[in-house]
Amino acid sequence: MDKNHPTTQLIRTQAERSQHREHSVPMYLTSSFVFPSAEIMRDTFRGEVEGIIYSRYNNPNVDEFIAKVCRIEGAEAGFATATGMAAVFSSMAALLQSGDHVLASRAVFGSTHQVLTQILSKWGITHTYVNPTDVDKWESQIQPNTKMIVLETPSNPGLQLVDLEKVGKLAQKHQLILNVDNCFATPYLQQPIRYGAHIVTHSGTKFMDGQGRVLGGVIVGNKDLMEQVRAFCRSTGPALSPFNAWTLSKSLETLPVRMEQHCKNALALAHFLEEHPKVQRVFYPFLPSHPQYELAKQQMRLGGGIVTFELEGNTEQVFQLLNSMQLLSLSANLGDTRTIITHPASTTHAKLSEDERLAVGITPSLIRISLGLEHIDDITSDLRQALECL
Ligand SMILES: *Cc1c(COP(=O)(O)O)cnc(C)c1O
Repeated sequence: MDKNHPTTQLIRTQAERSQHREHSVPMYLTSSFVFPSAEIMRDTFRGEVEGIIYSRYNNPNVDEFIAKVCRIEGAEAGFATATGMAAVFSSMAALLQSGDHVLASRAVFGSTHQVLTQILSKWGITHTYVNPTDVDKWESQIQPNTKMIVLETPSNPGLQLVDLEKVGKLAQKHQLILNVDNCFATPYLQQPIRYGAHIVTHSGTKFMDGQGRVLGGVIVGNKDLMEQVRAFCRSTGPALSPFNAWTLSKSLETLPVRMEQHCKNALALAHFLEEHPKVQRVFYPFLPSHPQYELAKQQMRLGGGIVTFELEGNTEQVFQLLNSMQLLSLSANLGDTRTIITHPASTTHAKLSEDERLAVGITPSLIRISLGLEHIDDITSDLRQALECL
């Protein structure tokens, strides 16, 4: 199996067939599993015999989903969670303790910001925010008690990149755990472990499911650290349901072809917006005008499925634009077959202060578009008519 390309492995990795020799894996909607004898049950609990005990720990559908993510990320082990935030939170809570310090990119997901500032802080875990685009300055912010580096690249919604090679070297030099949220890029476009990341998290809710159906998350990484993460998750219970795992695992079969099309649509829309007189600025990693275009080409296969832009105008005009959409959905989600338009300042990042938003480039006129798989001409014509309404 391992000699095949990762894209083939996403399709061909599967839970062991039952006596029915099914082609597509069935769903194991069972909370627990039975044992042929008390001795085998005892030995399984002791970890001396491989076996599935209880769906909070593992489940064939969940294991299959994890195996696929491990293969495409190049990870040794993983644990799947009910949401992306459960993955982000568990990866930190399992590996940090009171007194530890986290070096975090300032441009992290809104709820990750809440975890750092409101939750981990209650347990004496401190953090320092650093500028995602200026990795050369990160070393000076490392403290004697710094234990982990947390980052996302590209960031949400500003699409700022962090130089993974540089951060990988920094983490290695100072023996820090490098924890990357790879949700925006997906493992098809970028594999942080190649650059020295120890832990990678995902919201499966986004491009992994890719069809706006289920919530889910996953943590993968090196074996020793994942042992601690798994122990934490088994006891605290953020497990992924078998139904959602089955859905996510099936979705991964089409991740590469979907990502190719999401990215193609995104690049085309970025070009369209760049030409439009009512658009002030467009951000897309694979646009030559992106300040980190060279880095994007270096560490990403394609530019991703998200485009953001600044409208020539204020919040009122942004709302008018959103209210004029006929095809695009007004939603806070992303990574769907359906194109979604969002105003980050009033929704996903509303909990941040104005200064915190501006520090990561979230101006009042910034709009985020998650490109779906509709025909690109229909997406651009919807935006064209809405821009003309202004
Ligand atoms: C959506 C998202 C999350 C959280 O995922 P949920 O499945 O909604 O909990 C975390 N990180 C990033 C970058 C996201 O986009």
